[in-house]
Amino acid sequence: MTSDKRVTGWGLIGASTIASEHMISAIRAQSGHDVVAVVSSNAQRGQAFAHTHGVARAYDDVASMLADPAVHAVYVSTTNDLHCSQVLAASAAGKHVLCEKPLALKVADALAMNTACRNAGVVLGTNHHLRNAATHRCIRELVQGGAIGRPLFARVFHAVYLPPHLQGWRLDKPEAGGGVILDITVHDVDTLRYILGAEPVEAVGLTQSTTMAREGLEDGVMAVLRFDNGVLAQLHDAFTVKHADTGIEIHGEKGSIVGRNVMTQQPVGEVLLRTAAGEQPIAVEHTNLYERGVAAFCDAMRGEGSPAATAEDGVRSLATAIAVVDACRSGTAVRIPNFFA
Ligand code: NDP
Repeated sequence: MTSDKRVTGWGLIGASTIASEHMISAIRAQSGHDVVAVVSSNAQRGQAFAHTHGVARAYDDVASMLADPAVHAVYVSTTNDLHCSQVLAASAAGKHVLCEKPLALKVADALAMNTACRNAGVVLGTNHHLRNAATHRCIRELVQGGAIGRPLFARVFHAVYLPPHLQGWRLDKPEAGGGVILDITVHDVDTLRYILGAEPVEAVGLTQSTTMAREGLEDGVMAVLRFDNGVLAQLHDAFTVKHADTGIEIHGEKGSIVGRNVMTQQPVGEVLLRTAAGEQPIAVEHTNLYERGVAAFCDAMRGEGSPAATAEDGVRSLATAIAVVDACRSGTAVRIPNFFA
């Protein structure tokens, strides 16, 4: 398997839940791609993870895995504080990198990751899965095709219940990049940027810390973003809500689009268009979000196109999420700089 030069070998940096539940199968769904190595800071857990998933080699340090010639690309899904140093190491070793969101804890670090990968001639992608959903692609087409006229408002309903097996560092480790804003709001931002084709310029918000988060972290947030096309977007994100629906709404001068059950990892949900002509369900063909994202990344590695969400997209979603954090802490409106003007 690993000696076959026709196989593009992937190394996993992080023996994580998201790798187990979604990404290993998404990589293996690509013709000519396989997961050949994993790094865990805990050698025993790394071995067990490799055994469970049929991964040939487990390493307990990143440098050794990056020196493995069978590893051509890496997928980084450690806790958020580790992404920056690991991506910099991977780019220095000449490996393409698909990195989890948020790219880093600081915008300066995310910008450095982008620059390092560009200078090394390797692809850096951000694993914002939602823009790969058939529902969000359909909503984007409707909005950008003029189906609702000028978009005025957006509302994102992304208050969920963090499942018990994920109730760890997100809730009590600020130093690891925990909290609902870096976890969920960052996805809302990417999805809205994708759908609207516009950039957020200003943020306000209030957070909540109730039944789950500790150590100064937030487990709920309501925020409003202003986009550079004038759209106001309201975001509701939480770890603590067991029985709410997820969704997204885009309201324009001539109509509204309602996406139900669409802020999810699963290929599900429905899209409705409401105009003067009435309400019309829009047919979508659901496909696996992660497989589609990895497919675009594989094309980009071959020099064809860009990752579904680029490094620049990851910088922008992080910058906006940090602006939301700052706005909530300061109780004031925070401007969002455009780092790519
Ligand atoms: P996990 O908590 O499962 O994994 C994060 C790290 O925690 C791993 O790298 C691992 O360290 C360590 N770890 C994992 N399991 C255990 C365990 N049983 N005991 C002790 N340590 C453990 O996090 P997630 O998979 O939920 O998230 C990882 C990253 O992926 C984050 O950046 C997150 O934001 C992102 N994410 C993205 C999603 C998306 O849809 N795009 C969805 C979910 C998460 P080590 O590697 O050293 O073993």
